[in-house]
Amino acid sequence: MMMRFCPTAVFVVFAGLSSAMADPPRHNVILFVPDGLRAEIVTQETAPTLAEIRDTGVNFANSHSLFPTFTMPNSSGMATGHHLGDTSVFGNVLYAGFPIRSAKSARIAFIENDDILGDIDEHFSGNFIDEETILHVAHRAGFNTAAIGKLGPTLIFDHTSRDGGESVIVDDATGSKAGIPLASWLSDALKAANPPVVAPSRGDNGKHGNAHESGTNVANVTQQAYFADVLTKIVLPKFGNDGKPFVVVFWSRDPDGTQHNQGDSFLKLEPGINGPTSLAAIRNADSNLAAIRAALDTLGLATMTDIIVSADHGFSTISKQSETSPAAKASYTNVPASYLPPGFVAIDLATALNLPLWDPDNDNARVEGGKHPHDANGFIGEDPAASRGESIRTMRTGLSVRIRPLRS
Ligand SMILES: [Zn+2]
Repeated sequence: MMMRFCPTAVFVVFAGLSSAMADPPRHNVILFVPDGLRAEIVTQETAPTLAEIRDTGVNFANSHSLFPTFTMPNSSGMATGHHLGDTSVFGNVLYAGFPIRSAKSARIAFIENDDILGDIDEHFSGNFIDEETILHVAHRAGFNTAAIGKLGPTLIFDHTSRDGGESVIVDDATGSKAGIPLASWLSDALKAANPPVVAPSRGDNGKHGNAHESGTNVANVTQQAYFADVLTKIVLPKFGNDGKPFVVVFWSRDPDGTQHNQGDSFLKLEPGINGPTSLAAIRNADSNLAAIRAALDTLGLATMTDIIVSADHGFSTISKQSETSPAAKASYTNVPASYLPPGFVAIDLATALNLPLWDPDNDNARVEGGKHPHDANGFIGEDPAASRGESIRTMRTGLSVRIRPLRS
């Protein structure tokens, strides 16, 4: 397996207040997360807004992710200030140890999903992370709070309050049955203004391709323009008028989502995530940040607002060929010969352990020769229905594996 670039190097900068300002009446923070942005790709040409903030603010040159490549573990740390040993979020897919209703009663689920996060919270006394989030604390201290952007990490920042009465939560699910309710001032404003109440889908940006078809050639422009509009045209003006300090998180799915799905390198390594589609995604995140800065200027909030930029993790171009993996030696209808199938780690571990493999995303069906787990998850052992413990806190002893570089 060939890896390009350093997946742990992330981008962290801090644009501080002007020291000329005396006793600001209030102090606001915006955390901007360009998901999966590599620090070294940021230049005046690729991302001028990010480069300017880095070059004129405080640059944390040696920052790194808590967990390379996975969004949800890193979001749990960024949202709480705790390491993963405290938050227990070790993956984007969690083995929960109980049947998760909204995951078709599977015990393992991809948790970038508001319903699934809600079910897991409910099971673990309302807070499966068991640590307070910064938005929750800030709201209690009298701040206005909002988290806007990518489904999953956005809700993590205030996941214990799901009635719209605390933080503004706007993500992919907003306006749908699965979305977190909006406060009436926000839903009224959305109905009256340009941004629709229902968040747009990723459209063509969500096309991940497969062995026979390349992925997307467009960045996640439409959906993120919606998120940026909601923040800059409705939420920030309201927060500015309220006169209270605020904490806002903007989680940009780009460049991560586009780097996963980019169709620039169909079945080849070059140009990988240095291709035009991924560069457009970096520019898209940069444009969102530029729009946020412009709104702060227009609203007179710029001098009393700190902007912190931090990617959750980096990204690498990955080759899926393998000469040694047992999983790559079998043939599959939807995987090119000698390529690794989804779930190859589970297949190889089960092979090495001489234990049966089961697919939690296919009613725990047995996975045998020529088949791979549908969504790359696997249970390894004699009985796929056997509980591996009472809680997520014991999941380290369970054997559940999910490796597929398509979503993070
Ligand atoms: Zn991520």
